[in-house]
Amino acid sequence: MQHDRTSEGRIDALLARMTVEEKLGQLQQLAWNGDTGPGGGQNHLAEAAARKGVLGSVLNLHGAAHTNALQRIAVEESRLGVPLLFGFDVVHGFWTTFPIPLAQAAAFDPSVAVRDAEVSAAEARSNGVHWTFSPMMDVTHEPRWGRIAESGGEDPYLTAVLAAAKVRGYQGEDLADPRRVAACAKHFAGYGAVEGGRDYNTVDLSEQRLRNLHLPPFRAAVDAGAASVMAAFTTVGGVPAHAHPHLLTDVLKGEWGFDGVVVSDWGGVRELTVHGLAEDAADAARIAFGAGLDMEMASTHLADHGRELLDRGDLGAARLDDAVRRVLRLKFRLGLFERPYADEAAALGGPTPESRAAARWAAARCTVLLKNDGPVLPLAATVRSLAVLGPFADSADLHGTWSGPGEARFPAVTVLDAVRAAAPDAEVRHAAGGAEAVAAARAADAVVLVVGEPTAVSGEASSRADIGLPPGQEELIHAVAATGTPFAVVLVTGRPLTVEGWIDAAPAVLAAWHPGIEAGHAIADVLFGSVNPGGKLPVTLPRSVGQLPLYYNHENTGRPADPDRPDAPFVSSYLDTAHGPRFPFGHGLSYTEFEIGEPRLAAGTASVAELRAGAHVEVTVAVRNTGPRTGDEVVQLYVHDRAASIVQPVRRLRGFRRVTLAPGESAEVRFRLGADDLGFWTHDPAGRHTVEPGAIDVYAGGSSAARAHRTLMLTR
Ligand code: BGC
Repeated sequence: MQHDRTSEGRIDALLARMTVEEKLGQLQQLAWNGDTGPGGGQNHLAEAAARKGVLGSVLNLHGAAHTNALQRIAVEESRLGVPLLFGFDVVHGFWTTFPIPLAQAAAFDPSVAVRDAEVSAAEARSNGVHWTFSPMMDVTHEPRWGRIAESGGEDPYLTAVLAAAKVRGYQGEDLADPRRVAACAKHFAGYGAVEGGRDYNTVDLSEQRLRNLHLPPFRAAVDAGAASVMAAFTTVGGVPAHAHPHLLTDVLKGEWGFDGVVVSDWGGVRELTVHGLAEDAADAARIAFGAGLDMEMASTHLADHGRELLDRGDLGAARLDDAVRRVLRLKFRLGLFERPYADEAAALGGPTPESRAAARWAAARCTVLLKNDGPVLPLAATVRSLAVLGPFADSADLHGTWSGPGEARFPAVTVLDAVRAAAPDAEVRHAAGGAEAVAAARAADAVVLVVGEPTAVSGEASSRADIGLPPGQEELIHAVAATGTPFAVVLVTGRPLTVEGWIDAAPAVLAAWHPGIEAGHAIADVLFGSVNPGGKLPVTLPRSVGQLPLYYNHENTGRPADPDRPDAPFVSSYLDTAHGPRFPFGHGLSYTEFEIGEPRLAAGTASVAELRAGAHVEVTVAVRNTGPRTGDEVVQLYVHDRAASIVQPVRRLRGFRRVTLAPGESAEVRFRLGADDLGFWTHDPAGRHTVEPGAIDVYAGGSSAARAHRTLMLTR
């Protein structure tokens, strides 16, 4: 990134005046109202440290007046008046909750992520927050992992596109703009690969897996200008990410030229002793800052022991100055030296009609129609009696994990309220379950059955060993099915669920994820057809937990299972379950039908040398709406390198475009495949990307199960 010479000069001048304690202080982030173990919150510490000029940042404080009060202490009472940086987890909304990030991935449309980020940034910054700990871009194959809700799902390309979009949405062109916040790409790196999907568990990755699957979103975020990166809690190959010089220094700061701030995760420095890497607190600070960390969140090991580490030569003065420079650089970029205070008169106090409209649009756009026999959906506008049933029909627990301060103040619109508003002439009955629900189903023309999981069972430290519906809900689905009344299941979840026990009994299923503040309205928009669903699964839906990990871009074994020969012996499959997923990555239906043609290549061959020099192969895919309604299709492009020096995934997503077409209308979607798309990273820890000659199959379709393909020959 281009450095601003004036600020770099001002940073030099400041560094020259700072004491060691003031420098160490810039690298400390304390938690407002936080609980970091014995001693509890750090509010009193934060105020005293701000006054002494030995505090860089505070997390979890928001509100223009609150942040200004603390900022005033730092700016007006400390010796050098360096402003504080206020950080907060604005993950999918501050006041206005958008759908969870996993849902946003299902939209296959980066404009959803951009809209969320822009609204969130304006609300947060006007309330004194400069820095959000988002976006999370941990690629994961684990629906048991609660943090899958915060992720973009299983695909590195989709996640990378969304990560870059979100960074741009938060940061805009100029971080000093009072409607923008600094982004944080997290958690670097490999957190999504926790063993067994158990949060914080061990991660062990080969270099090629790390680089091909887990690093691309981070690279995209850094290239998009992400101001900061957060280290992951986990070990990666035996070394905690907080203590990982290869990741933090060699790759991120060296190879990628990242000039922003690397912040620890909450207490991540302290945890180096718990992991069993560091001997004590001083050792933990030595290892983490030596590896390339720039700021410590919540624990205070560097602030407490930095002086002694410097005196002993265990922390170099240059490394200290580099870390301080990065923190000061971010403060300059945010314009905090010129404008340290939030404008209290301009602080946004809650969602606006516009932000609500954006959240409603986004939530509807993120829904995925998994099946629709009959079709049951959309419900006829003329339907006379409806039963809105299930434990989530009249629930406002639809914000989803990490939903920000808006959740407590602005309840989500329930499905029941929204259905009543959308069908004012229909008789609407409601019951959460039991015999009452069955009776209501029997008496209605159609049923909307809202099931799923509460917010509390996804997100951090919320892994599940069983990812089916919570107890009682499957039984309710079967009881409603037995009434014979047509019904649609609406799934509100933070993760993909296993659906084997009931999906055959349900004619229509709409995945709505945790949709945010406008949940009910968005779901009603889709149920009644004013919005035609067009989202796609950003994750594979397994048949059972025993199949995990199950993901579309897997490598072939030497004995792959053949779906056409389920009984074949000695193949890589399970004896007690069908092979393959219930629904593949990229699957999602619409109220209309689409026909997607074979991919057409502008040239049948391309030379590796030219691709490396920046050439592209153009691919065109025709798509036509062959059904009765206007609707959206996501045209997806996948590649497969047939023979390479490292066995390649059977498919890799390398392009997608969501298009809206009227009945009978068609479009030509153009993609460009370049070296990034056709090559891969090798095992070389120094980072070697290669494109190899040979045959590449290029697939196009409406899901990862697409079969239509053409072959591109790569020559030297
Ligand atoms: C999470 C981070 C988050 C931080 C601050 C941690 O527990 O892992 O994602 O940004 O807390 O709230």
